[in-house]
Amino acid sequence: MAEPASPGAPLIIVVSGPGGVGKGTIVDALVRRDRGLWLSRSWTTRRQRPGETDDDYRFTDAAEFERHIERGGFVEWTEFLGNYYGTPVPEPDAVGDRDVVLEIELDGACQVKKRHPDAVMIFVLPPSRAEQERRLRGRGDPDDRVQARLRKAENEEPAGLAVADHVVVNDDLYTTVDELLAIIESSRSR
Ligand code: 5GP
Repeated sequence: MAEPASPGAPLIIVVSGPGGVGKGTIVDALVRRDRGLWLSRSWTTRRQRPGETDDDYRFTDAAEFERHIERGGFVEWTEFLGNYYGTPVPEPDAVGDRDVVLEIELDGACQVKKRHPDAVMIFVLPPSRAEQERRLRGRGDPDDRVQARLRKAENEEPAGLAVADHVVVNDDLYTTVDELLAIIESSRSR
């Protein structure tokens, strides 16, 4: 059911887009540059990659994830290429008076939009497929995972563009973050 935003409620900013587009780097830079933003930390059942820290996700197993679903503990959750990912219901004290940033894939983004029609949907695109593939390979995932992510990205792009309020091409990180900050500023003053 859609929940109307109450006056003074935080904005919900959804940053979505295909894997390898650089969403994680973008939102990290975004919250560093705008102290009025709070970045949600997702839960996942995927294995921790080398170099990832416990700040990147709450890494958990399927049984605990499913218990949390049953408790109504997620704003949205999905299964993405064999693993669960979900946005936990935020603790109001942790968020304070900041606006909330979610970095999630398309199915989750659509769930958030349904529940919070005022959410600002930003869909990020890679400058090219070749660059996206290069970024995906750079994470060290095996080739079949890279191929699966590329296929999924290509299939989902039209639906992502349809649900987006704003589309941004991530060619240069600094410019992309500037564009997102401008979108957020104008959404705040709406
Ligand atoms: P990765 O395994 O590369 O960290 O993430 C795979 C995909 O899951 C990415 O597109 C990422 O944005 C998305 N994702 C991360 N956290 C969440 C979440 O809480 N919910 C949903 N729906 N997707 C998420």
